[in-house]
Amino acid sequence: MTEKNDKKIALVTGAGRGIGKSIAELLASKGHHVICVSRSASSCGAVSDAINAGGGSAQSLAVDVADKGAVKAACEQLLEQHGNIDILVNNAGITRDGLLFRMSDEAWDDVISTNLSSCFSWIKHLARPMTRKRWGRIINISSVIGLTGNAGQANYAAAKAGMLGLTKSLAKEFAARNVTVNAVAPGFISTDMTAELDEQQKKAIVGVIPMKRMGTAEDIAHTTAFIASEEAGYITGQVFTVDGGMVM
Ligand code: NDP
Repeated sequence: MTEKNDKKIALVTGAGRGIGKSIAELLASKGHHVICVSRSASSCGAVSDAINAGGGSAQSLAVDVADKGAVKAACEQLLEQHGNIDILVNNAGITRDGLLFRMSDEAWDDVISTNLSSCFSWIKHLARPMTRKRWGRIINISSVIGLTGNAGQANYAAAKAGMLGLTKSLAKEFAARNVTVNAVAPGFISTDMTAELDEQQKKAIVGVIPMKRMGTAEDIAHTTAFIASEEAGYITGQVFTVDGGMVM
């Protein structure tokens, strides 16, 4: 794992809750300065406040990742402040589920822009300084649904599968510059996103997970922190499935 004295600047989207919050906390515990981004100022602000109160180093920024202009402005501000972002974790994501014939154009567009186009925007603005510095880690939090598809989640599955194509293409573009691009594909993780499921649905899900439990946000954070580390420098273009053995 990265040593404490090897301090990097990390940016985590969707850091206000769930998986993103755990990733931000773990990267901070490894000595990195973490920029916590979420939709609402209060959620990312609370996470960065707690990191700073615990002796870590963090700041927060409320940005709607689906708003290309807002992402561009945020990146310009952050690059001016820090010169470079070393670790970018594209984690912010939403669901707007529904069977295709009932899926509105808005539900399709919202999920594609929040989950997929946002990754393009952040990477487009932050990757060039990484390539100049000859060091960078880009980690896209996809989903096992991007590998398997799921009835009622055509928009979400398309966005998450799109993230994998983006990951592999950019891994090839940036490899010679020592910037790695990888994806994590979580299975079912206990967060606000899955809290909407009723007990019967949760029981059915756990039934198809060989490890017989849902994952935790920390399970995803540990994988992400490893990919972000110095030691993972020869790994690029890969998809790390973290799902208790569900998809093999
Ligand atoms: P949560 O719903 O718990 O948290 C989502 C986070 O993303 C929040 O901090 C939220 O901000 C932020 N966010 C959502 N939309 C935007 C936006 N437009 N702009 C900025 N920030 C936004 O999600 P999880 O922690 O469960 O999921 C995190 C990621 O992991 C997602 O990409 C999800 O698809 C993926 N994933 C999750 C799985 C699970 O089982 N939970 C399984 C597989 C993948 P705010 O706090 O301000 O609302």
